[in-house]
Amino acid sequence: MIDRIAQLRAQAGEAIAAAQDTEALDQLRVHYLGRKAELPLLLRDIGALPADQRGAVGRTANEARKAIEALISARSQEVQAQELSGSLLADALDVTLPGTPPRPVGRMHVIAATQRELEDIFLGLGFTVLEGPEVETVHYNFDALNHNPNHPARARTDTFYLRTEAGPGDSAGEREPSERLLLRTHTSPMQVRAMEAHPPPLYVVIPGRVYRPDSDATHTPQFHQVEGLAVDDDITLADLKGTLLAFARAIFGDQRDVRLRPHFFPFTEPSVEVDVSCFHCSGEGFLRDGSRCPLCKGEGWLEVLGAGEVDPDVYAHVPTTERNAPGYDPEKVQGFAWGMGVERIAMLRHGIPDLRLYYENDVRFLEQFGA
Ligand SMILES: [Zn+2]
Repeated sequence: MIDRIAQLRAQAGEAIAAAQDTEALDQLRVHYLGRKAELPLLLRDIGALPADQRGAVGRTANEARKAIEALISARSQEVQAQELSGSLLADALDVTLPGTPPRPVGRMHVIAATQRELEDIFLGLGFTVLEGPEVETVHYNFDALNHNPNHPARARTDTFYLRTEAGPGDSAGEREPSERLLLRTHTSPMQVRAMEAHPPPLYVVIPGRVYRPDSDATHTPQFHQVEGLAVDDDITLADLKGTLLAFARAIFGDQRDVRLRPHFFPFTEPSVEVDVSCFHCSGEGFLRDGSRCPLCKGEGWLEVLGAGEVDPDVYAHVPTTERNAPGYDPEKVQGFAWGMGVERIAMLRHGIPDLRLYYENDVRFLEQFGA
């Protein structure tokens, strides 16, 4: 008799554990504990047993009944929780679903997309991306970059200066000339700031907005540049050419070539202008039908940026500090730098005729570019 009770208890335990919903549990409750079930009947008829067996059988049967009740109750809570979360999932409102009708998502502006692409190319070549302040001092924008006091870019007509309060210690009521503020005219001030903050070797690109008071089809008062600076041991013009060739091929196609033409910039020596072979006519200068290439105007080359070896005088403007120790000794380090216009690169690449189209925000223009 006691064996049979143990068997019933074990069977019930397995069946309860396997039950998957409230209905199955209700059926098990009837099957094992209902009025016509074996265990309750056995308890009811206990009086018919021999007196010496009643106590032990009764106790075992009662324990089995309580255990089965507890198992059903525990399993029932689990199953109810599962059923609840199942119904929550089934009824869930997905707020991330598109509305009706779905609205087109926006896209990146062609300038931002081009800038990101340039950053990716130079990241792939081992450069780090840095950003810098758009409001600069005369020191970082001109002095530290070897622009002498008579350089035309420093004229009030060529640069946006900011009216400034007197700085500490200025008796004349205005800041020291080198501490006066302006909207940076190029991303190059970050060359010196980057060297002040990091010891060599240094490989950085600096994208950002720059400002000059010009406005016509090929000039806007605000535009974007990507500056590059590499400083290390034994850096030559060949390293500059190789870096820019990799850039030109990534942007304008695998067949491109670059050429360097001598030029002058105050903060590079030697300085070069960099041309890329024309991708419209494959550098031939004329098209298949014999007509002159409209993009390069028959030259076969497109001017894309200015560059050069960093002038040793620029390193002399970088103080040695704890942060950039051992510092930039012009006798020991060499480097190259370039500055490219993001608008110009996107114009060449997409055949955009007028710079002002970038800023008019006409969606018919903007939706032709970017992803
Ligand atoms: Zn061409």
